[in-house]
Order: sequence, then C-alpha cells, then structure tokens
Amino acid sequence: MKETYDVLVVGGGPGGALAAKAAAEAGLSVLLVEKRPAIGAPVRCAEGIGKEALAEFIAADPKWISADIERAVLVGPDGTRFTIGGEAAGGKVGYVLDRKIFDRELIWRAAEAGAEIQVHARASAPIIIEGKLSGAIIHQHGKTYEVRAKVVIAADGVESKFAKWSGIDTTVPLWELETCAQYIVNDIDFDCKANVFHVSNEACPWGYIWIFPKGPRCANIGIGIAGTKSGEGHRAKDYLDKYLAKEFPNGKVTELIVGGVSVCKPLECTVADNLIVVGDAARLSDPITGGGIYNAMYTGNLAGNIAATAIKNGDTSKKALMIYDKTWRNGPVGTTLARNYAVKESFIKMDDKKLNSIVHSMSDLKIDDLSVKKLVLAIFKANPWLALELPHLL
Ligand code: FAD
Repeated sequence: MKETYDVLVVGGGPGGALAAKAAAEAGLSVLLVEKRPAIGAPVRCAEGIGKEALAEFIAADPKWISADIERAVLVGPDGTRFTIGGEAAGGKVGYVLDRKIFDRELIWRAAEAGAEIQVHARASAPIIIEGKLSGAIIHQHGKTYEVRAKVVIAADGVESKFAKWSGIDTTVPLWELETCAQYIVNDIDFDCKANVFHVSNEACPWGYIWIFPKGPRCANIGIGIAGTKSGEGHRAKDYLDKYLAKEFPNGKVTELIVGGVSVCKPLECTVADNLIVVGDAARLSDPITGGGIYNAMYTGNLAGNIAATAIKNGDTSKKALMIYDKTWRNGPVGTTLARNYAVKESFIKMDDKKLNSIVHSMSDLKIDDLSVKKLVLAIFKANPWLALELPHLL
C-alpha cells in the first residue's frame, strides 16, 4: 500500500469495483480497500438482475450465472398468480447471478485496468486536513496505514460509515430498513425459470418473500420485512420458516444469511468536498424490490469518471463533484427511484384484501400484448380506489 493515490475506493462490491475500474481506465492511481477477507463472500443478496441492465456494463458469462430467468410471477396473499415474461416483461427478463464469482470478476477487471486491490483492509476513519477530507486510516493484518487521496469514493454498502464520518446524514429510519433472511434450499420441485414474488402483509409485513432459482432443484428463498415489524418470535427468519414449512417442507437448507436493505429515499446529497458516495452507501437500492446491483454499478462507473475529470481539472470541491449527483438524480436511476418510492409508500400500507384485488385484476389480463402502460391502466380500471392512493401513476 502506498501513502498517496489519486482515488481511494472504500468497499469492494459492484459499486466500488466499477468506480475503481473507471478511475483506473482514466489513467488515475487507484486503491480499493475491502474489509472482508474475500471479495463477494458471504453473499448478502438474492442475486437477481435484468439482462439489459447487466449488459450495459458486462457481457453475460455462464461462469457467474446461476440461472437464466424467463418470467416473473407475482403471487397474491390468497395464492392468485400473475405471470409476466418475454416481450411483455420488457425484453429478455433476467439472471440470477453467482455473486461470489461475479463480484470477483468485477474486481479483477478493476485490477486489470490498473487499480490496486487490498482485501482484509478496513477504512476506520477519514483523514481530515484543513477541514477537508484527504484520505482514510486503513487497518490491515494488524497494521495501520494513513492513505491520502484527492478523491474518496464511498462504496461501503448499506452499513456505510464513510459518508457519515464526512458529515453527510445517512440515517435510515427503522421502518425503511428491510430486515432480510434468505436460505439456499435444495432438492425442491419448483419452476426454475421464474423469479417468484409473494406479497402479503400477513405473511411478510411491509415486504415480500422471494424464490430465485439457483439451479434445477435449488433456490434462494428469502424474505424482507420492515424493521419496525420485526420482534421477538416474529423476525424475518420466523416468517420465512413458516413459509418454508408450508411450501417446501422437504427442502434441504444449506445456507442461511441475514442482511439489511434500505428502502428509503436516496441521500439528499451524494457528494462533499473530495467525496463521492455510490450504490447502497448512497441509499440507492430500489424501494419496491430492494434491488441495488445495477444502481451500484451505474453510480460506481459514473463516480470513477467524474472523479477523473475533477482531478484532471484540479478541482475536487463539492461544487465540482455536484455533476455526479445531478447526473444520476436527473437520469433514469433517479427518476425510477423517486417513482418507486412513491409506489412503495402506498403498497406497503395495503392490507391483504387490497393486495388480492390488485393481483386478481392482473391475473385476468391477457399477457400476449401487454406493455407496462397497459398493465398499469388495466389495474387502475379494475381498482378505481387506487387512483386516490397513487394519483401520480396515472
Ligand atoms: P455492497 O455490495 O454491499 O459492497 C459494499 C462493500 O463495502 C462490502 O463488501 C463491505 O464489506 C465493504 N465495506 C464496508 N465498510 C467498509 C470499510 N469501512 N472498509 C472497507 N470495506 C468496507 N440487489 C439486486 O439487484 N438484486 C437482488 O436480488 C438483491 N437481493 C438482495 C437480497 C438481500 C437479502 C440483500 C441484503 C440485498 C439484496 N440486494 C439485491 C441488494 C444488493 O445486494 C446491493 O444493492 C448491492 O450489493 C450494492 O452494491 P454496493 O457495491 O453498493 O454495496
């Protein structure tokens, strides 16, 4: 580890990897530090991503794809199913990744571009000189290093501390922190070409249960519930155990992982002097699905490029870095997050009767000729009360 770099990236998830790669490709000296001993493990993720979104950054490779997904199935509280796939779902649907390998591939690409990667290396505090962020204290293998950098990219995920240390309010209200539990379940009969989403306020309050295939007889089955709905005897794992006992009583569980996902609004500002915040650290996971791999890759890549321009221009002030915040916020990522936040706000409060009514109206539709617009209009037609709850969607 050297004493100075142009860019220090904190965190080796998809956001950090893309940031390090973009900055290194632009000719900067880059250090990425990851506190865990191994990139990509343990996997705190259901690993689903849309094919088109993924293709923006990397060509699909079977070595890090667990399953090719052809359709999505929404299951209502009473078991009514709505299936959407192919063109009706906006094209090629998605993959379930193997993030242990995928995240490493992204990191290798950053290293190939020239970034230095250090694992088991934890950023424990910012270095502040004359009131400005100038690097971080890094602990690795019992040693402490002072690493200076012109720009720090905070890609330290949902548990992010770096932005907070630099004066940005990163608080996630408990009710907007989904507490999740997921199992890898083997030896089960199920549709291994479909990602399944169960909604029910009784079975998974203010969240959903997912079944994401990992192979022909193996799936990631998990749940997210609002932090405020969790308590002794009714934690995420309790709800999930109940679901498994009912739906897959003979499934063999080989892995249990718990984790958190923020479903709040993004940070009010994602830059400060010499600092850019990306991915989950910036609270950019989708408020409805909790998905954040694509948004982390998108903002990581953008941050690496903006850091490079700012450093070349000799101005890494908050004002100069604001273009990063404006670009993602005013683009598709920001507009989708804003719309989905509003939708989530209404949906989580719906009781099972209303959720059933929505899924029923969807299941009646013919999906051969179905665009998102047609789908939304049909749901509103069948459920006029929705116009009051979600007027902005009309
Ligand atoms: P992360 O991938 O979390 O990476 C941050 C990294 O920073 C971590 O490796 C961490 O160890 C490291 N770090 C933290 N602090 C420090 C420090 N001080 N010093 C050094 N390193 C540090 N998204 C989807 O798109 N699809 C899904 O199906 C999906 N399912 C999910 C299921 C669950 C149960 C959970 C919890 C999340 C899920 N997500 C999903 C969300 C997805 O995992 C994240 O949005 C994505 O990983 C964000 O990438 P990131 O790079 O911002 O952060």
